[in-house]
Amino acid sequence: MNEKASQPVLPGPLPRRQSRQARVVWGDNIVTVGGGAPVRVQSMTNTDTVDAIGTAIQVKELARAGSEIVRITVNTPEAAAAVPAIREQLDRMGVDVPLVGDFHYNGHTLLHEYPDCAKALSKYRINPGNVGKGAKRDKQFAEMIELACRYEKPVRIGVNWGSLDQDLLARIMDENASRAVPWGAQSVMVEALITSAIESAQKAEEIGLPGSQIILSCKVSQVQDLIAVYRELARRCEYALHLGLTEAGMGSKGIVASTAALSVLMQEGIGDTIRISLTPEPGAAREKEVYVAQEILQTMGLRNFTPMVIACPGCGRTTSTTFQELASSIQSYLREQMPTWKTAYPGVEEMDVAVMGCIVNGPGESKHANIGISLPGSGESPAAPVFVDGVKVKTLRGERIAEEFQAIVDEYVRTHYGPGATQQVQESVA
Ligand code: SF4
Repeated sequence: MNEKASQPVLPGPLPRRQSRQARVVWGDNIVTVGGGAPVRVQSMTNTDTVDAIGTAIQVKELARAGSEIVRITVNTPEAAAAVPAIREQLDRMGVDVPLVGDFHYNGHTLLHEYPDCAKALSKYRINPGNVGKGAKRDKQFAEMIELACRYEKPVRIGVNWGSLDQDLLARIMDENASRAVPWGAQSVMVEALITSAIESAQKAEEIGLPGSQIILSCKVSQVQDLIAVYRELARRCEYALHLGLTEAGMGSKGIVASTAALSVLMQEGIGDTIRISLTPEPGAAREKEVYVAQEILQTMGLRNFTPMVIACPGCGRTTSTTFQELASSIQSYLREQMPTWKTAYPGVEEMDVAVMGCIVNGPGESKHANIGISLPGSGESPAAPVFVDGVKVKTLRGERIAEEFQAIVDEYVRTHYGPGATQQVQESVA
């Protein structure tokens, strides 16, 4: 025995920072943010808001993918006029996801002149760096907060390093210059972001907005800066926090950068709602940002959304793309079923499905999943053993392995998560 070995420390539930709880409401759908609520997934449309039907369709797609809150741009009178029509169209389609209006510069005017828009939105996003310049800034910010109070809407005060309030930045720089040992430029920028968010939130509370109805964000585009900003923000206030790396980028870079930043923060309990700002590939589905957000939360063990597909990377033992195709098709199939399954089969989102590329290492991994399949590798007989709850139940052969495996997954879901599941499972074991 190795006397120096000490028992590995296994992770327990992740800590959560104490925060106040905001309520983002549409009809009977109350999405709580902060205060111990699950970390919420949100997203944003990229349609022209004036196109009410096109925007409503994209909101529906994002909501169906699992976005619990959807933000839309409200930048012109025409866009503000379209918001009630978008809401009505969503209600007609049975989509009760709350909508957030993203305002810059003219938000005070739009919310004032389009009261139906103000009422149809469930939350307002205000960027304190973009509400106006000079003396107008405080007045226009106050007008938006007063309207949020009047319509009982929560507000996200969303600071962005690319549109930081320049007057405030100048003040922070002056303060820094008077220090005996001035801070570096990055520290000054971080301080300015945090000060902008917290001072704006305090002003909103002075105007009458309850602190629980305020969510803060301070978005930057560099991973280490984001971590530094949010750690400090979390330490200095109890407002619910919206996490996101701005301008995360395209493809794997955007996913990796967002995951790196948000994982570190959420591991420390920081973050009450997340949005992944991916630049979509031309023609790609907008829902990808929702799936990435869900996968971050699920792989960290914070929430479950969709059964996980565990697939091996493949190696010299795999001679074809069959197993990759099966892993991809079963993942798509599971996602497509979730809007129905999540109410019909509670708990199904915790299911693991393994798709492995050969029968040398595959069966071991397959046995750990709820359902696993090992496809034949090079030189192996053309047979695919299937494991259910660690027990080999079948060997699939021939051209219809994918269809037959999907049928086994369907049967497992029905018998393990459907009505009377416990009894059926007990009978099948007996
Ligand atoms: S399971 Fe088989 S095919 Fe997949 S990576 Fe491992 S050895 Fe290679």
